[in-house]
Amino acid sequence: MKKPLFILLFFILCTSSWAQSTQAPTTKRPNIVFIMSDDHAYQAISAYSNRLIETPNIDRIAKMGMRFTNATVTNSICAPSRATILTGKHSHLNGKIDNDFPFDTTNVTFPQLFQEAGYQTAMFGKLHFGNAPKGFDQYKILPGQGSYYNPDFITKNEGNIRVEGYVTDIITDMTLDWLKEERNPSDPFLLFYLHKAPHREWLPAERHLEEFTQRTFPEPATLFDDYSGRGRAAKEAEMNLLKHLHWSGDSKIYPSVMKELGIPGTSNWDTLAFSREVGRLTPQQRANWDKSYDLVNASFKSSFPSMDEKEKMQWRYQRYMQDYLGTIRAVDENVGRVLDYLEANNLMDNTLIVYTSDQGFYLGEHGWYDKRFVYDESFKTPLLVAWPGKIAPGSTSSTMVQNLDYAQTFLEAAGIPAPADMQGESLLPLLTGNSESWTRDAVYYHYYEYPAVHMVKRHYAVVTEQYKLVHYYYDVDEWELIDRIKDPQELRNVYEDPAYAPVVAELHRKLEELRKQYGDSAEISQGYLDTYLDRLEKNPAYGTNAEVTKKLLEERKKSRKEQ
Ligand code: CA
Repeated sequence: MKKPLFILLFFILCTSSWAQSTQAPTTKRPNIVFIMSDDHAYQAISAYSNRLIETPNIDRIAKMGMRFTNATVTNSICAPSRATILTGKHSHLNGKIDNDFPFDTTNVTFPQLFQEAGYQTAMFGKLHFGNAPKGFDQYKILPGQGSYYNPDFITKNEGNIRVEGYVTDIITDMTLDWLKEERNPSDPFLLFYLHKAPHREWLPAERHLEEFTQRTFPEPATLFDDYSGRGRAAKEAEMNLLKHLHWSGDSKIYPSVMKELGIPGTSNWDTLAFSREVGRLTPQQRANWDKSYDLVNASFKSSFPSMDEKEKMQWRYQRYMQDYLGTIRAVDENVGRVLDYLEANNLMDNTLIVYTSDQGFYLGEHGWYDKRFVYDESFKTPLLVAWPGKIAPGSTSSTMVQNLDYAQTFLEAAGIPAPADMQGESLLPLLTGNSESWTRDAVYYHYYEYPAVHMVKRHYAVVTEQYKLVHYYYDVDEWELIDRIKDPQELRNVYEDPAYAPVVAELHRKLEELRKQYGDSAEISQGYLDTYLDRLEKNPAYGTNAEVTKKLLEERKKSRKEQ
């Protein structure tokens, strides 16, 4: 069909439907269901790899639509990622650079635009900002990190409530209740369905404890990484499974057993984290919980005294995976409940469904848990997008896309103009098979929270499908080049290798181009660092590593005197 004729036909169709009913164009706008979990590594979704766990329900979204294999974040940490998703802007512009900086509520977030355009908007689950979400007709959110067992919620209409049960089930119940009872079926909706799981401290539902606490999982190839091929940032990070996990809070070793075996807590936080979560269980729930963890503790008590360091690491990896993957089983079951509801109520055909996480996560790769680094397992995030009739079923894309792009994607899908200062790109051309118009071949990354928990140094990077050029710029001045194709495990910094000199030069050029394009600079970084260090002077505990924090604050004092 030739274009003018097509446009004419479209015009006739639109105007005739307007003539029949003024509601017709509105009802055609797609619903958006945005499903996001917290810290869900793509390694733990069977659409990506079934080495660790089967996730048949999450995989249904991949089967219906597109699976992205190079989806990434701009700043791999919880609240900043959420701020980027909502604003479509990099951290240095939306201001939410780390978990502690408050979110500036004068930012325009895309749900506000949906609400103004007549969409019904609702959010259930974990937002992880200090603020109530703007632009939502209805919300029930967890305060801060929230709790796994018998959680509290901040609600729009009922004040603060506590609900008995398991957090993943409850968030889903709230979501389904809204879909069934509160939603007006004649208008399109934007639904945020946000899981707390699988965030630390990884507490599975009672029904999954028995199975998961007894399972064994394959180890990653880099579990015993000694960081010899990289610089100080990797060596000095505090997220090693053996050295930095809490025995009690994370591995669920009872404080009494630790005492008996003479294991010191890694911090006061260690046993506190345990009692904070487990202390919420009712006596009946606690009895069920103990059935599984009594066995874990009994077996640990008998085997720990003879374990060498390697065996301790292996034990901690298994314990970590048992609980982490146990929480994912409940996420998968519950995603299935929502998909079943959409299917049974004819909502699939006009609904764009996304499954993602706020970032990736280390599942023992490099010996680590947690995120923050630009290395793949935390930089990349799962991204599955279904929209029946629009996106080819079972398709994949290896294009470099980012959480920065979601806002503009949803706005375009809904036919709502995006503000000119949003910095992403709509993914619709990729999703609908029109990728010729896509020109971006590199993405920008910037992580800030240091010195702080896990001690990952500040760094920014440019990443292409082939390479990563990284600059660790504070407390150190180190450049790193990773060859993503030849070194997929990211074990060797080849920045100084003469063979890569042309690549280094080209990537420096690209990095400067991106920093200019996105409006980031050394001055802006210094401004955020100064604000952070001012705060740290008042509260050095936030630096977590007392020795390093003291050293950095003294260096700052000295340089002030010299100026
Ligand atoms: Ca997170």
